[in-house]
Amino acid sequence: MSFIKLQVIAPILKALDTEGYTTPTPIQQQAIPVVLQGRDLLGCAQTGTGKTAAFAIPILQKLYNQKTEDKAPKQIKALILTPTRELAIQINESFEAYGKHTGLNHLVIFGGVSQQSQTNGLRRGVDILIATPGRLLDLMQQHYVSLQHLQFFVLDEADRMLDMGFIHDVKKIITRLPAKRQTLFFSATMPTEIAKLSQSILNNPVKVEVTPVSSTAEKVEQAVYFVEKDDKKNLLIHLLKDKNIASALVFTRTKHGADKVAKELNKANVKTDAIHGNKSQNARQRALTNFKNGQIRVLVATDIAARGIDVELLSHVINFELPNIPETYVHRIGRTGRAGASGIALSFCDREEKVFLRDIHKLTAQAIPVVDEHPYKMLQPSYEETKANHQKTSSNARPFAPRRSMSQRRWSQ
Ligand code: AMP
Repeated sequence: MSFIKLQVIAPILKALDTEGYTTPTPIQQQAIPVVLQGRDLLGCAQTGTGKTAAFAIPILQKLYNQKTEDKAPKQIKALILTPTRELAIQINESFEAYGKHTGLNHLVIFGGVSQQSQTNGLRRGVDILIATPGRLLDLMQQHYVSLQHLQFFVLDEADRMLDMGFIHDVKKIITRLPAKRQTLFFSATMPTEIAKLSQSILNNPVKVEVTPVSSTAEKVEQAVYFVEKDDKKNLLIHLLKDKNIASALVFTRTKHGADKVAKELNKANVKTDAIHGNKSQNARQRALTNFKNGQIRVLVATDIAARGIDVELLSHVINFELPNIPETYVHRIGRTGRAGASGIALSFCDREEKVFLRDIHKLTAQAIPVVDEHPYKMLQPSYEETKANHQKTSSNARPFAPRRSMSQRRWSQ
């Protein structure tokens, strides 16, 4: 299968060639013809599958091929709504890359920065708008954005919109879109509310599905280190002595944790930065750029900040803390091993996190290999501790393994 076979036009083929894309990924093979035919699409796919190009290529192509009288130059004809600033920036970069020979222009808008340059861009006129929901609504309310010429609407990462509390904004935006349009709806998972939303906005869609969440894990080499909580920092520094770890994305559960780990690594002379929601957009972007071009070797991130980070050839993902939601583990390790490349994911698991590891095993239907040989091995509980635990367990008739408590469940992502 090639992009020519998918009937992609020459100006886009040329750009794909520059990007080094030779073969369409499975989601691209399925989605591009459907979108070119003008059908609505329900795509079950997560970041890392090549889904951005799966919607960007046919939208660019359809807009490029339009008859001059339909062209409505520099009016917003395509809107891509995505949950995070990082994703918005990356999608904008993709439109730039794939559309550079089409003459179509695009703009990205997101919150947390001054609106001035965004409103200037909107005034100059835009063909394709990429936006996060909050800032888009804001600028719509200020009458900077008109969507009356809209032909294509892409809702990206719909399940994340729900997780992040943006779903009401999204629904509000949808009520303002022209009824006659082509809609492409992407979500990695389909919770009931998202399934309902998709049914309400899609018109007889074609469903395409790739890489169910659990199978992403199969192409990533994984290992787990059992380690006491207080030793995790030392273990991380120890592992990073290995120069084979060219670049590592380290995950913590909290923003504070991310800052703490970054500080410790810098103290140990490992060039590190942290990104999370408390950092300014500029600081996050700077950290990401420095990471991408190799100026810093380690980026510490929380799940939300890292969502959609697209670093080509990221060699390692390290779970400094295991997530309490097993799907999050799969999303994390999916940052490495992108678009078919293999990657390595290492996880630190302390006593309290064993229950999370069990949930991950259940979801991925894989046992992650345990690294036994390392200097910070978790000590086995003493005979007395085991006995005491056992007695407590039998007297309370509770299972030996600690159950996940509500407070653990509420740990922020
Ligand atoms: P996405 O799922 O859109 O975030 O894409 C994941 C990564 O795959 C990005 O780094 C893209 O540049 C890359 N990619 C997308 N399509 C292809 C392709 N056909 N061949 C090679 N790389 C691709």
